[in-house]
Amino acid sequence: MESIDIGVSVPGRYWHRLADGRVQCDLCPRECKLHEGQRGLCFVRARKSDQIVLTTYGRSSGFCLDPIEKKPLNHFLPGTSVLSFGTAGCNLTCKFCQNWDISKARADDRLQQHASPEAIARAAVESGAHSVAFTYNDPVIFLEYAVDVAAACREVGVKTVAVTAGYIGEEARPEFFGAMDATNIDLKGFTEDFYRKLCTGSLDAVLDTLYYVKHETKTWLEITTLLIPGENDSSQEVSALSEWVMKKLGPDVPLHFTAFHPDWKMRDKPPTPPSTLTRAREIARRTGLRYVYTGNVHDESGQSTYCGVCGERLIGRDWYDITDWSLDAQGRCAACGELCPGLFESLPGRWGARRASLSIEAA
Ligand code: SF4
Repeated sequence: MESIDIGVSVPGRYWHRLADGRVQCDLCPRECKLHEGQRGLCFVRARKSDQIVLTTYGRSSGFCLDPIEKKPLNHFLPGTSVLSFGTAGCNLTCKFCQNWDISKARADDRLQQHASPEAIARAAVESGAHSVAFTYNDPVIFLEYAVDVAAACREVGVKTVAVTAGYIGEEARPEFFGAMDATNIDLKGFTEDFYRKLCTGSLDAVLDTLYYVKHETKTWLEITTLLIPGENDSSQEVSALSEWVMKKLGPDVPLHFTAFHPDWKMRDKPPTPPSTLTRAREIARRTGLRYVYTGNVHDESGQSTYCGVCGERLIGRDWYDITDWSLDAQGRCAACGELCPGLFESLPGRWGARRASLSIEAA
């Protein structure tokens, strides 16, 4: 635990006092136990004036309009733009982090933009974004800010999306996911060894979150697994992961296998070959999962959505562009009438593959 000066902060939720005088943060399974002035592993939560505070409320590393497919979400308002932002810090320590400049950042280095929840919701409406995503770093660690932004968005009819590793405590799950309309949860591997060695986390805690979101909330759920050569890409591990999803969550939860590129503290591994993603997709489909995708590579068939019953191509995709649409206004297959799970409008959005930065007035 690091002891440093604390800047702007708001009272944090989910913590309790210990008999030895420390306070324990219960927001995530790491359960940091803090003396006065110390910060937790995520760096953005700290003990100040004898309570846990969030030190990054209202501060962001920047705002962007992205395609919703980039989160990735393929069954949630396809073709629309999503106003995306992150803060700083993370509660996992993944050696292969693909966003390390943000997740490993100290708040004061990166958080140059300030915006109230209402200002973000207003900017989403004005820019035509259908949703706001908490992304780039894990929103669990800035729960108080994310939940307030989500409430402001709901007031003006904008949806909310959490892109997260799902490493959150049991007590905090209802508030966090209750505020979100959709989530993409990283399932980083399928062994405790992988989580312990490469992320200093625990697989079981993430599986509990996945089960909770699917069975206890109305939040739309998709899952992403980044396949790293030699670490989590064996057919056996992909098969075990897919079988767990099929058995515990059912065939309709979309699963994305995405390509790793060498980064942060894992630069000795090669990028994931496209053939690995295709193999993983085939394995997952053989277990019965209906909506399995490849990501971070050019693969039109692996990124398109097919009817789970008749096989009709429902949504064609070329990277983030929608090239084909065979859903009726109720989200049913135009060929056989089977409902495609997710949230769809009568027509796809036309945002395409663009990425645009956005500046937001603070108040
Ligand atoms: S949210 Fe941060 S301070 Fe709280 S337990 Fe997790 S890493 Fe520690």
